[in-house]
Amino acid sequence: MLVVMQAHATEEHVRAVCEKIEALGYRAHSIPGAQRTAIGITGNQGEVQPGTLDEMPGVQEVIRVSKPYKLVSRDLKAENTIIKFAGTHATLGGENFAIIAGPCAIESREQAMAVAERVAKAGAQFFRGGAYKPRTSPYTFQGLGEQGLQIMAEVRERFGVKIITEAIDNESLELVEQYADVIQIGARNMQNFSLLKRAGRARKPVLLKRGMSATLEEFLMAAEYIMSEGNYNVVLCERGVRTFADHTRNTLDLSLIPAVQRLSHLPIIVDPSHGTGKRNKVTPMSRAAAAVGADGLIIEVHNQPDKALSDGMQSLYPEQFDELMAQVRQIAAVVGRTIVEIGEPVASGKV
Ligand code: PEP
Ligand code: MN
Repeated sequence: MLVVMQAHATEEHVRAVCEKIEALGYRAHSIPGAQRTAIGITGNQGEVQPGTLDEMPGVQEVIRVSKPYKLVSRDLKAENTIIKFAGTHATLGGENFAIIAGPCAIESREQAMAVAERVAKAGAQFFRGGAYKPRTSPYTFQGLGEQGLQIMAEVRERFGVKIITEAIDNESLELVEQYADVIQIGARNMQNFSLLKRAGRARKPVLLKRGMSATLEEFLMAAEYIMSEGNYNVVLCERGVRTFADHTRNTLDLSLIPAVQRLSHLPIIVDPSHGTGKRNKVTPMSRAAAAVGADGLIIEVHNQPDKALSDGMQSLYPEQFDELMAQVRQIAAVVGRTIVEIGEPVASGKV
């Protein structure tokens, strides 16, 4: 159920409706919009009796949401969600075309600084890098753990970029939440419901990657899990799905972008690195992602891809990333987007 408030409803009206919903044993999610506030009701197995809310002051109407996802839906919020980062011009969603770049994994301080310097200079607003890596084999590099997070925090200090890194379980999420600006939930965890709920209680935005065999509805339901716990800052990421194709690691499903945008107000970005698995396909698919109307890109870049401890084959050389940025800036402009400068570094120093 969804309560649509009148355009002139006061904060007291909104609060009274939320209190009423909670008193009935449900959870109220008040989402302000450009025109009016809408209040999503979750936790109801059956139907809430609209009569109890219909007559309250400031209420315009009570609507039944027929789709299984409610908070991610445009029924609740017609306008696009824009996630902002205090003190910077960076956003996820909105007019800015967000650029997240960095290595698959943080391998050493030197490697992280070398890559960060290049991607920040090229215009990336966010630095990515795994400290906890969900690897197919238990015998391959698993990430530096907290040390990796500390290195990322240093990258933020030095280059002024925001930090995004993956949490693979509840334990790592505790630490990731402390260090990072955005918490990444990986494809393999898209339906790890306890992790999604924990991310929903975090105070940081969440980047949710699509599971490698997830349908659109399953993907949106995973985002709903996060939002249902009260974290409304979720950004979706298409990273390719498994198909019979063997010319790429995954099949990057760019048609998902307009499909999501019809149904949901959440921003959606594209990962052409995991989406193709091949360095030579990353830039062409990045151009396509900008053209299709995605809200940004997440790109793997390494200073020495041939020596990378994970995903070297799909990691760009820094100069290839420079070229990608030059091309994507032009395509983004055609669809009314710009890649904003994040702002002056908070602290500058010699690397
Ligand atoms: C990653 O971003 O390095 C990663 C492991 O991504 P995914 O979860 O999409 O495989
Ligand atoms: Mn990777």
